Amino acid sequence: MARLLLFDIDGTLIDSDGAGGAAILDAVEEHFGIQREHFPPLQLAGATDPAIAMDVFGHLNRSHTPEEVTSFLDRYLSHLQRRLQAEDFTGYTLPGVTQLLQALRGESAAHLGLLTGNVRRGAVIKLTRHGIFEYFIEGGFGSDHHDRNQLGPVALQRMQEATGTTYDIADVIVIGDTPKDIRCAEAFGAKCLAVATGQYSHAELSALNPWRCVESFADVPAIVELLLHD
Ligand SMILES: [Mg+2]
Repeated sequence: MARLLLFDIDGTLIDSDGAGGAAILDAVEEHFGIQREHFPPLQLAGATDPAIAMDVFGHLNRSHTPEEVTSFLDRYLSHLQRRLQAEDFTGYTLPGVTQLLQALRGESAAHLGLLTGNVRRGAVIKLTRHGIFEYFIEGGFGSDHHDRNQLGPVALQRMQEATGTTYDIADVIVIGDTPKDIRCAEAFGAKCLAVATGQYSHAELSALNPWRCVESFADVPAIVELLLHD
């Protein structure tokens, strides 16, 4: 039976060096005519894009329709695209990630999917820019629901349809860098491999009792062993 590995993106696979948050503030300036300096800090780690957008509207005491959230996120996506294509873009793939994905792709015992707060288009933009989009079959995205805890079953169902496999929930592993990833895994009974390459330390993540917690993916053989056989 294949294991289903559902990867988060930001802080887990890539570090876009602030480009995502900057693109949100670009959208704030454009959509509301408010300078970024006058906007309070946003909690981005682990949040879905629609939840971030709703936070923005909330900060400004603006009510919003789903269409306005979509329009705001469209602006965000065009700025994200621009920032990731810029010559001075300094984002990078996190240590061991590309080698890990290559190693797992050769394993029939693993199916690779996504479980991310990014809207689908944002996920495609980010992963394509870093040359790792091709590794993933399907996934659950922020565009499916603003509540991250609703995304696990969506990812599971899409992967089952795409691969023709019915996964035992004991073989489903969510891989992410924030407490929200750990809770999102718990919400549908999956395991969570927490990785401390984002904003949270190994100690902070371990305290939430994920299935496993590692500092990074730098030791690729050890991570492959853990994901396939532990
Ligand atoms: Mg993340």
